[in-house]
Amino acid sequence: MNFKKEIKIGTVTIGGNHQIAIQSMTNTKTRDIESTVRQINELAKIGADIVRMTISNIDDALAISKIKERTSIPLVADIHFDYRLAIEAVNQGIDKIRINPGNIGSHENVKAVVEACKKRNVPIRIGINSGSLEKDLYQKYGGVTPEALLESMKRHVELIESYDYHNLVLSIKATDINTTIKTNQLLNQYFDYPIHIGLTEAGTINSGIVRSSYTLGTLLNDGIGNTIRVSLTDDPIYEVRAAKEILKNLNLIDHTPIFTSCPTCGRTQYNMIPIAKEIENYLYTVKKDIHVAVMGCVVNGPGEAREADLGVAGGIGEALLFKKGEIIRKIKEKDIVKELIKEIDAF
Ligand code: SF4
Repeated sequence: MNFKKEIKIGTVTIGGNHQIAIQSMTNTKTRDIESTVRQINELAKIGADIVRMTISNIDDALAISKIKERTSIPLVADIHFDYRLAIEAVNQGIDKIRINPGNIGSHENVKAVVEACKKRNVPIRIGINSGSLEKDLYQKYGGVTPEALLESMKRHVELIESYDYHNLVLSIKATDINTTIKTNQLLNQYFDYPIHIGLTEAGTINSGIVRSSYTLGTLLNDGIGNTIRVSLTDDPIYEVRAAKEILKNLNLIDHTPIFTSCPTCGRTQYNMIPIAKEIENYLYTVKKDIHVAVMGCVVNGPGEAREADLGVAGGIGEALLFKKGEIIRKIKEKDIVKELIKEIDAF
């Protein structure tokens, strides 16, 4: 846990001793209100605490209040280049804005955004990406180095603080794992503001999850990071699932089920893989402390599932259902998912 300054994003507080918040980002056109609302609600259902949306034109900005009426988790407006969109997002009731002061134009533009945020106490995430490092810092440090990125952040923070605003969240993301880790270590040493961590352009579901798990896991293990986003080239549902897995395996999230399953082998006697996937997907929607195991055979399955609260071990066309290591009944293969979900709900 990283005891940074507490910052309130709508109903969610980060920093202090609050839980690390899971973020994701919609990939709909924000002005397509139906699709955006549907996606936000899907993400919330599986455990997103905060969702960010792109605000790339005035129609996107004007959609915010309508989207907020039909969703219940805090929303963040992601804005580049046009400071007027940030002001409109604040007027529309957004819970936080994310800007990169480096591309929002003059200091006067930044000041106008800060003044709008100040009126409603809307936090600002200063989000710097390695790709947008200022030219003079690039030259001074001979490239995109952690020290250069930290100096860029110092400039932006000092500018916003000079307008007497301290309601900030900081993030510096890079595509390179070691640069991201080192930069966030420096950021953590230097500032008291909460840190949003993530690896940018991490890749598809395979490479992206591995790279993000290593990067975010290393930082979180060192107590760095107050909110996380796993960026993936895929449905954002997978981002939230991956973030939950990272936090769960580091014991940084409460009331989240643990799921284990065997890899299957020549002993597997039923069609286990789709069953394991369905149960795992269902568990992402459940908020309770429960360990569920799906095992391929009755030879090793029962023994290995003993640690679990609930489990199945498959035979030919049927499975044994376990509760706390004891066999409670046999179930037909076609009923495994239904029966196990019933037991999970009742647990
Ligand atoms: Fe194979 Fe059974 Fe082990 Fe699964 S539990 S990997 S089916 S031996």
